[in-house]
Amino acid sequence: MAHDHDDHHHDNELDPMAARVRALETILTQKGLVDPAAIDAIVETYETKVGPHIGAKVVAKAWSDPQFADWLKRDATAAIASLGISGRQGEHMQAVFNTADTHNLVVCTLCSCYPWSVLGLPPVWYKSPPYRSRAVIDPRGVLAEFDLVLPETTNIRVWDSTAELRYLVIPLRPDGTDALSEAQLAKLVTRDAMIGTGIALAPEAA
Ligand code: FE
Repeated sequence: MAHDHDDHHHDNELDPMAARVRALETILTQKGLVDPAAIDAIVETYETKVGPHIGAKVVAKAWSDPQFADWLKRDATAAIASLGISGRQGEHMQAVFNTADTHNLVVCTLCSCYPWSVLGLPPVWYKSPPYRSRAVIDPRGVLAEFDLVLPETTNIRVWDSTAELRYLVIPLRPDGTDALSEAQLAKLVTRDAMIGTGIALAPEAA
């Protein structure tokens, strides 16, 4: 969102990254070092351009293109980079594919490592101590709180992110989507489905 420089009443709602950008902007503008319009472009990148719609594109391509899915399984960092998406140096991506038997869930127990290059900024709950500890101790209970009740026979695999390795869940492709284009499929892929606290939307729900 391009923000209005005279309107500061939303400041308390800014996420930490945007708040830091705003603070830097003020200092640098006052010193005459930057053009506020250039800073707006950076803020807009974090708020609108880098977000779950990027990960959704990756998932939709994996659903539509078996060769890409295979590449994503073997080397997610390279497969994702081939779509023009890249993270910071030193971060590697791993795609974890849900199957009929196994559901994957991502957490960072230590802090808040998150695949920001494909999902944007993490939701507040992802960084909360209860999620970080309970996702490991009681993943089924955590998923139930997200209204995701999986069959008892479904194995839940929890992946603990680090600064070096970030996980992206590839949810199961919903039934009744054979005729959909990649762009239509991407609309079914929610942020939570790519963290594992949700699943992809049914076509009629999107
Ligand atoms: Fe972390």
